[in-house]
Amino acid sequence: MKKGKKLYEGKAKIIFSSTDKNLVIQHFKDDATAFNNQKKASIEGKGILNNRISEHILSALKDVGIENHLIKRLNMREQLIDFVDIIPIEFVIRNIVTGSLTKRLGIEDGTILNKPLIEFCYKNDKLGDPLIAKEHIDAFGWASLSEIELITDKCLRINDFLQGMFRGINIKLVDFKLEFGKRKSDGKIILADEISPDTCRLWDADTDRKLDKDRFRKNLGDIVEAYQEVARRLGILHEQANNIRPIKFPKPTAVKIKKK
Ligand code: UDP
Repeated sequence: MKKGKKLYEGKAKIIFSSTDKNLVIQHFKDDATAFNNQKKASIEGKGILNNRISEHILSALKDVGIENHLIKRLNMREQLIDFVDIIPIEFVIRNIVTGSLTKRLGIEDGTILNKPLIEFCYKNDKLGDPLIAKEHIDAFGWASLSEIELITDKCLRINDFLQGMFRGINIKLVDFKLEFGKRKSDGKIILADEISPDTCRLWDADTDRKLDKDRFRKNLGDIVEAYQEVARRLGILHEQANNIRPIKFPKPTAVKIKKK
């Protein structure tokens, strides 16, 4: 599969055309951003790990019948994916309260939700990805109410599956973000983008140690080591071992959750 011209460059990924008009190539960069682009860095090896972790998760979802854009991983940094029109909404699924929700509503960090909470944010950097209601999604034609119904149902199924998968490797799935798109070839709504420690909050189940992008957001250090730890527990690290910095496994120490 030959790589064509750059179609789109985002904060952490680049999309290139391919020889098939219905397929594109997704390239994972090492760039990291937070706080609406105010904090930026390049984290060596992050793109390789996210490519591998996202491939693993999306393949597992496909195996349980959740259709998504992944066709196959091409190399260390690239995947062949279905070309989709992204619905400009971030679907955030939460099991434990943390991050923006604690600030917005003053709920204590670490509060376990009785059932998963789904939030909708309008994907717009200039506006800071504002929280919106499903009525906005319908009113502005980003998706119809029945499409939102279908997507939220998929979000809950994905959450159930991923919670179980991570529980099996002693990790709590605290929250995560999903994106969906309409496949160019047939217009079907499918899961797209990536699922990785960049887009999920993952806490070690014994210590609550953060194994995700919060290590970057909160200057906790050992970012690549944490992503490697997730990959190692998922059983998929072998291929990267010689290509990125040596693995320094952290000692399990209790992490104090700072109250905001
Ligand atoms: N998230 C993401 N991309 C975004 C915003 C959020 O992947 O642009 C993920 C984030 O990693 C976390 C979840 O969505 O797993 C909820 O994030 P939150 O709303 O708490 O935002 P933050 O605290 O990052 O501002």
